[in-house]
Amino acid sequence: MPYVNAKEMLTDAKKNHYAVGHFNLNNMESVRAFLLAAEEKKSPIILGVSGGTAKYMGGYKTIADMVRDFMDFLKITVPVCTHVDHGTYEEALAAIEGGFSSVMFDGSKYSIDENIEKTRHIVELAHAKNITVEAEVGAIGGEEDGRISMGECADPEQCKRIADLGIDFLAAGIGNIHGKYPANWPGLRFDVLAAIQEKTGDLPLVLHGGSGIPDEMVRKAITLGVSKVNVNTECQIAFTEATRKFIEEGKDREGRGFTPRALLAPGLEATKAKCIEKMELFGSVGRA
Ligand SMILES: [Zn+2]
Repeated sequence: MPYVNAKEMLTDAKKNHYAVGHFNLNNMESVRAFLLAAEEKKSPIILGVSGGTAKYMGGYKTIADMVRDFMDFLKITVPVCTHVDHGTYEEALAAIEGGFSSVMFDGSKYSIDENIEKTRHIVELAHAKNITVEAEVGAIGGEEDGRISMGECADPEQCKRIADLGIDFLAAGIGNIHGKYPANWPGLRFDVLAAIQEKTGDLPLVLHGGSGIPDEMVRKAITLGVSKVNVNTECQIAFTEATRKFIEEGKDREGRGFTPRALLAPGLEATKAKCIEKMELFGSVGRA
């Protein structure tokens, strides 16, 4: 069964200069939408789960089981990875127990020494179960854990210290932010990205806040070593706008449009279409 950790897919992405998309789950429709998109485009995929989604969707075990069962049901043949998005220490542990194939421990709110200690422990536990680990240095701007900030840049030396723990991939702030980008956003710091990559060697780097970064900047970041791009907000907006359109056109009042499956179908299709658009941008189509 192609339910895998992120090691092989990101190593291949790095070697061949494309990126694998990390798409956040929000509900059952998103599981279905992303798996169908990945299969249709023969692309590897990473399904991200935030703490909020984990609580909403019944915890890590429920989600891991659901993804695997859906993969069986939909006859998915491409590699699929379940990944914790910005996990706290406790969330990372819960996901390791719950059957996730990959976890992110985000210790960026701690001092670098405490981040290193906690990351080291997560790497030990995760690698013992063949689970890959993403760490973070330098808080990524926007709204992260309820804090709002404007695109910090990670210190390349600190990135090296974290990389040396044997993590599998690294999220490092290079001026990127979560959510919608403000009109006066100065753009990605490619100089910082290059400096981080120089210190971290072959380690795949992760670009968070992939929603709203101009396509050209995303492509350039991929050429400089980014092998995973996280997308959430754009897929959420696609889902919600399609749902709004369905209701505004009065389709929920026609025929069986009132059923929740009919109501959510346009959102599911829009999520899938947005996912495919991103896979094309990242160059992962046909890589599975
Ligand atoms: Zn993020």
